[in-house]
Amino acid sequence: MSDALPLIIVGAGMAAYAVAREFRKLDKTTPLLLVSSDQAGSYAKPMLSNALAMGKGAAQLLSFSAEQMAATLGATIVGGVTVSDIDSSARTIGCSDGRTLAYRDLVLALGATPIRLALAGDAAERVLSVNHLDDYAVLRQRLADLPGPARVTILGAGLIGCEFADDLVAGGHQVTLIDPNARPLAALAAPALSDALVKAWAALPITLKMRTTASAVRRAEDGLVVELADGSAVAADVVLSAVGLRPAIALATAAGLATGRGIVVDQFGATSAAGIYALGDCAEYSTDHGGTVLPYVAPLLLAARAIGATLAGTPTPIVLKTDAVVVKTASLKLALAPPPVGSTGSWVAVDDGERIVARFVDQAGIMRGFGLTLHTPALRSALMSELDKAHATALS
Ligand SMILES: Cc1cc2nc3c(=O)[nH]c(=O)nc-3n(C[C@H](O)[C@H](O)[C@H](O)COP(=O)(O)OP(=O)(O)OC[C@H]3O[C@@H](n4cnc5c(N)ncnc54)[C@H](O)[C@@H]3O)c2cc1C
Repeated sequence: MSDALPLIIVGAGMAAYAVAREFRKLDKTTPLLLVSSDQAGSYAKPMLSNALAMGKGAAQLLSFSAEQMAATLGATIVGGVTVSDIDSSARTIGCSDGRTLAYRDLVLALGATPIRLALAGDAAERVLSVNHLDDYAVLRQRLADLPGPARVTILGAGLIGCEFADDLVAGGHQVTLIDPNARPLAALAAPALSDALVKAWAALPITLKMRTTASAVRRAEDGLVVELADGSAVAADVVLSAVGLRPAIALATAAGLATGRGIVVDQFGATSAAGIYALGDCAEYSTDHGGTVLPYVAPLLLAARAIGATLAGTPTPIVLKTDAVVVKTASLKLALAPPPVGSTGSWVAVDDGERIVARFVDQAGIMRGFGLTLHTPALRSALMSELDKAHATALS
């Protein structure tokens, strides 16, 4: 066994495994160690919000076990262990099993934690969030425990809430979506696209309760009741929260690393501490628009490729590309490239009778985002080029 210090990756999600793969392609000998709080199986997280209709259970979504990943990567993978502290001067991490491990370099791929609404009521703890394969297993079990189709109330009509709504009704359940905004996907999509989604759902058992929020979840004779701020109430068997994620920064903050919304990284994915990198949902990347969190698969893959190369000896900057997010709502094919958070401007939508294409234009008349129905790869890439050109013009 080599005496060389290992590259340690904390986490076993898509970001951790992507950077491990990229590193191993280029460096076959440096010891590689992954430490993760979960059981460290590898799975494609986006499938969590479109697997119900396909009848897939959690076990079927698991692509590879930790053992299989360890063999493929030539790595040691420790599951069920939480990293509790980092000593960036000594270059060590402390683990929940009492061990202190020394690293050559450290990668933080810690993900994000679901935001929990402060809800009153004796059943507030029954509210589920699905941000991990294990959470999905719990949701599946709750649904399976019911004698028939479930009444599911979803808190939050953003990307994840809408995907779950669509998937649950396709799986035979009834859904009520609750959101403080006036329309679903309000933060990401043009009003015309939200309207198109609402229209596509018109004949489905999806009830929209917009412009209000849940205030309490209580036990009722036949399940649960969700009380809303507007004074109404919704009967439910299952309550699912999809109100957003908060990057996991506590470990980094406690270690003195620079954090904002996420763990702040430079163009190489390096944090403010020497030899420590971060990527994925926990990271705050540096972009032309300032620090930003990008909780999607495409950016984490680009970051993983660059960080993997840097750690293997070739310093490589992360080149982030704005990409359209494909919304996995089978009822309506939608792709969205929202404008950067805080952009001011307006949406201009064109409906040619077949599809709607919407562009977000800022006050200087520059396109900053887009969204469309019935997208194809060719259409997405044409709009992406248009967006890139507009961006280049704005910078020149
Ligand atoms: C339902 C759903 C659908 C989605 N659909 C899409 C989609 O269609 N397209 C898209 O681009 N993106 C989608 N996303 C987002 C995408 O899946 C995430 O951006 C990506 O999976 C994040 O990966 P990650 O590795 O950064 O985080 P995670 O998968 O959250 O992994 C974090 C890892 O860190 C470990 N960990 C955390 N803290 C510690 C600690 N202190 N010690 C040890 N281990 C620790 C955890 O156990 C876990 O293994 C979706 C997300 C969800 C929830």
